[in-house]
Amino acid sequence: MQRHGRPPGLGVVLAGNNPASEVYVRNKLKTVTEAGCRAELFRLDVEASIDAALALVRQLNENDAVDGILVQSPLPAGMGADAEQRVFDTIDPLKDVDGFHPLNVGLLVQKRQALVACTPLGCIELLERESIPLRGKHAVVIGRSDIVGKPMAMLLLHRDATVTVCHSRTANLAEVARTADVLVAAIGRPAFVTRDYVKPGATVIDVGINSLTARAEVERCFTEGSRKRAQFAEKGSVLVGDVHPNVEEVAGALTPVPGGVGPLTIAMVLRNTVTAAELRKDRGRAV
Ligand code: NDP
Repeated sequence: MQRHGRPPGLGVVLAGNNPASEVYVRNKLKTVTEAGCRAELFRLDVEASIDAALALVRQLNENDAVDGILVQSPLPAGMGADAEQRVFDTIDPLKDVDGFHPLNVGLLVQKRQALVACTPLGCIELLERESIPLRGKHAVVIGRSDIVGKPMAMLLLHRDATVTVCHSRTANLAEVARTADVLVAAIGRPAFVTRDYVKPGATVIDVGINSLTARAEVERCFTEGSRKRAQFAEKGSVLVGDVHPNVEEVAGALTPVPGGVGPLTIAMVLRNTVTAAELRKDRGRAV
């Protein structure tokens, strides 16, 4: 604030009407404004073209009051299969609050100052605040997406963990996972990581957020008489992570879903908005 004479500003682009995206965007806007920053929502219709999305991003790039830009994914299917990549490539790297621009990804790989993807950054914040040791430890990341798995692996590597990245073609996945001191699950499959994936005492970070609507799945995940079963009976759906809740019985520590990685991701949106404002102040020197 002192540097600019005004609070940092975030521009959020929301295209279409995905209900989950509406919730995520609302939470991000609320957190950022409550912290004293400015946040403005820019909506695009579900029928909007990719050209309209790119034009909006270019406009925000040029807008001096906007320090950070965040485009909520997924973009509407009508924008094309490569829409997200094209949009992320168009964001000014110095305003790239999501850290998805290839320049920021490259800077992260080289361990240079960069805007880093918010979810992995939130996971690191959780680990560091809980004083979970990483140096010399074996970290296993299940999932290799550009937005979670890969940057997560890089951040762990930069903290001197020995990192194994697993994916859908990994052989003997449970066996590999069981060697982890720190296990990160970013898969997108409800309660996929069961007790036999976890070394007793390991730290488990559950990135997944899955909505269960099938009774059999709810019964597989939650015991009779549990609060979650009652919630399902009342609402017809319930949230579960990529880690089975009974992993709690073997893990040394396990992040809850909801209430674990999700809120930290949003906190990192705020942090990156402030970082982006600072980077722009030093424009030309930072990147
Ligand atoms: P993606 O679908 O992009 O990636 C999933 C990864 O999991 C892929 O690398 C895939 O492997 C791997 N995978 C899928 N099935 C298996 C399997 N059977 N065995 C081993 N690996 C498998 O998902 P994201 O990374 O975007 O998200 C992951 C989860 O995190 C989702 O539940 C998502 O909702 C959640 N999420 C939560 C956030 C938060 O704020 N808490 C933010 C972002 C995501 P392959 O590459 O081989 O296909």
